[in-house]
Amino acid sequence: MKMVIKIGTSTLAYSNGRLNIRRVEELCKVISDLKNSGISVIVVSSGAIGMGCGKLSMPKRPEDMATKQAAAAVGQCELMYVYDKLFSEYNHTVAQILITASDVKHDDRYSNFINTLNRLLELETIPIINENDTIATEEIVIGDNDTLAAIVATSVKADLLVLLSDIDGLYSADPHQDRNATLISEVHNLDEHILATAGGSGSPLGTGGMKTKLTAARMCMESGCDMVIMNGSDPDLLYRIADGEQIGTRFYAGKQIER
Ligand code: GLU
Repeated sequence: MKMVIKIGTSTLAYSNGRLNIRRVEELCKVISDLKNSGISVIVVSSGAIGMGCGKLSMPKRPEDMATKQAAAAVGQCELMYVYDKLFSEYNHTVAQILITASDVKHDDRYSNFINTLNRLLELETIPIINENDTIATEEIVIGDNDTLAAIVATSVKADLLVLLSDIDGLYSADPHQDRNATLISEVHNLDEHILATAGGSGSPLGTGGMKTKLTAARMCMESGCDMVIMNGSDPDLLYRIADGEQIGTRFYAGKQIER
């Protein structure tokens, strides 16, 4: 089984940008164990800009491009240092890949990316991928790591993409606003009704990132990969997902997955 796990900034760091050590330690332990059980794991990790801001003691996320990219340059090092250190404790080797949208659109660079990624999996490493934030400009930016994770998952024909979020999954309405909102545990057909659940760009759910998650779900389902949205605050849930249990919201691409 091949699994892509996307870890968002809110899962990795506190709101001040400092590392959530307990969370990241748990995550690396569970991912190492899944890998030991024979699952090929690729991590798509955000957090470069957020952790750079934390390390540079910036009071808030910068608005201008140069400072944002400088923060990413600092934060990406910190991020990889932490992953390298924690995965090494469980005897796993990490590999960093940074890409932009233009790499995906460029035939040769895209095939190099896929070949390298597949080779890294054959070499039993844990590839850790992020957007190359220090050089991405508006024209070549993928923009969000939900989409990047879907690009990665479909490129390597993964069986499953898991998006770790700060919410349990997709709800019938915004759970922060509507007490009757219920968790939708299975999606087999990403129809207009489901897409409307995420709201427009102005809605709290849309701005909370559900829109990009549904775009990622559509990309995955169209190319035969299941996708799960789960709460990243409990990394142990990843074991249950790997065992095929119903956790969070699962988007079915309609095929059988063998462990
Ligand atoms: N690439 C960005 C970072 O590492 C995050 C993008 C996202 O959170 O979707 O800071």
